[in-house]
Amino acid sequence: MTTSYDVVVIGGGPGGYEAAIRAAQLGMSVACIERRLGKDGKPALGGTCLNVGCIPSKALLDSSYRYEEASHHLAVHGIDVQGVSLDVPRLVARKDQVVRQLTGGIAQLFKGYGVTWLQGQGRLLAGRRVQFTDLAGQEQELTAQHVILAAGSEPVRIPVAVVDDERIVDSTGALDFQEVPRRLGIIGAGVIGLELGSVWRRLGAEVVILEAQPEFLPMIDRQIAKETQKLLAKQGLDIRMKARVTAAKVVDAQVVVGYEDESGSKSESFDRLIVAVGRRPVTEGLLAADCGVELDERRFVHVDSQCRTSVPGVFAIGDLVRGPMLAHKAMEEGVMAVEVIAGHSPQVNYDTIIGVIYTHPEVAWVGLSEDQAKAQGLQVKVGSFSFAVNGRALASNDAQGLAKFIVDAKTDRVLGLHVLGPQAGDLVHQAMIAIEFGASIEDLQLMTFAHPTLSEVIHEAALSVDGRAIHAVQKRRQ
Ligand code: FAD
Ligand code: AMP
Repeated sequence: MTTSYDVVVIGGGPGGYEAAIRAAQLGMSVACIERRLGKDGKPALGGTCLNVGCIPSKALLDSSYRYEEASHHLAVHGIDVQGVSLDVPRLVARKDQVVRQLTGGIAQLFKGYGVTWLQGQGRLLAGRRVQFTDLAGQEQELTAQHVILAAGSEPVRIPVAVVDDERIVDSTGALDFQEVPRRLGIIGAGVIGLELGSVWRRLGAEVVILEAQPEFLPMIDRQIAKETQKLLAKQGLDIRMKARVTAAKVVDAQVVVGYEDESGSKSESFDRLIVAVGRRPVTEGLLAADCGVELDERRFVHVDSQCRTSVPGVFAIGDLVRGPMLAHKAMEEGVMAVEVIAGHSPQVNYDTIIGVIYTHPEVAWVGLSEDQAKAQGLQVKVGSFSFAVNGRALASNDAQGLAKFIVDAKTDRVLGLHVLGPQAGDLVHQAMIAIEFGASIEDLQLMTFAHPTLSEVIHEAALSVDGRAIHAVQKRRQ
């Protein structure tokens, strides 16, 4: 039997489920195929993001932050707390509850919008046909006017550290430790390594992060990266750069990790090891050999700027395609693909995709760094301002970090904002809107920011681009 839909989406992560909902809003008949089972063994929507990514990691970051506050940082407020204790299984169970609530919410939205959720595996065949295999192994063929591939990504595996899901885990396993490891090793000082490292360090683990590259967080502004590295080191994260892991073996309930750095071969023992060396697109089982969809040289599905693949009527979005692996990027691409199908001409502005690292303080950025702008041959002016003198930040004993604007010196246009500081992930949206609207730095300088707020740091950083920050003595004034 063949069933026909206007749109079939393969993958129910943030990219896929948003595409499905938008298509239903536009009156199309939609099926979304998702094979994932949640931690409770039941079918679950929401993809990596809701099940084993953004949401569970943020739940653990929040719980661990509260634990650290209660244990070490309340005395300064005149609050003495005694006998703080930790129940890791309960902390992890709360995280699971948040995940269940959100994934269940997507299922409710599907019901409300009339999106058909097909629980099982999808595979694109030639001629815009899709093979659907349900969880019991039953096969069915679907036809679709349009197909959206949204199969997402999975952790990169490296042969030198094979995940056994017990002592050596990937990011998914690291969300479910039932006790705090005494010594925790992490391979990779990327966003995931730093966030998970922060969680378990706050809960009491001694954390060592081994990173092969010489440059810390190469995607962000050098000044902000340097400050971030210093701050995280001060918090107790032992981040070792130029340290390439060459072996990891479990010996007597310990993971013995061999690595090489500038001074030679070394070894460390850990109770647990997290392998956080990046993610790769999930194309296995997704594409029939004759379906015609081309991959690029890194095995991402090749798409144009509106997410069209090499096959007419077939789109691909999110972690499956080029660009940063971020939930909000996947979501916007999903909506864009559907709008294209509906005959509109939408475009994701890839220049305003925000990056956030949810450490404390947070690191967030949008647009170009100073070096990136210069590499593009632009003449830049920059301005930065510290949280250390911001009234609101000091009032909440959270006054670390800085905000830095990168501006085109010729046109005065905002090119980028990079922030290390409390609520940086929210603050940076102000520059996202500025860049989207082609604002000049003067536009931001002339606006009135509420007092006392963290946003005043953004205003002062904008003013400091022209030597006009009020709460700093600036030599150069305009
Ligand atoms: P996914 O979310 O990966 O969803 C794809 C879905 O497709 C999966 O559920 C999979 O089961 C399903 N699927 C695959 N193949 C098939 C098939 N053939 N048939 C049926 N179903 C299939 N991003 C952020 O923006 N902010 C964060 O704070 C953040 N934190 C993260 C923390 C961690 C620990 C991790 C691992 C990731 C994090 N990310 C974060 C990244 C984010 O989760 C991804 O960018 C996002 O989930 C990508 O969405 P997607 O829809 O492209 O794919
Ligand atoms: P990201 O892709 O941002 O999640 O970061 C993953 C990081 O892991 C990258 O910075 C890689 O350089 C790093 N990495 C990959 N393989 C190794 C290895 N064998 N030893 C140490 N670091 C590694």
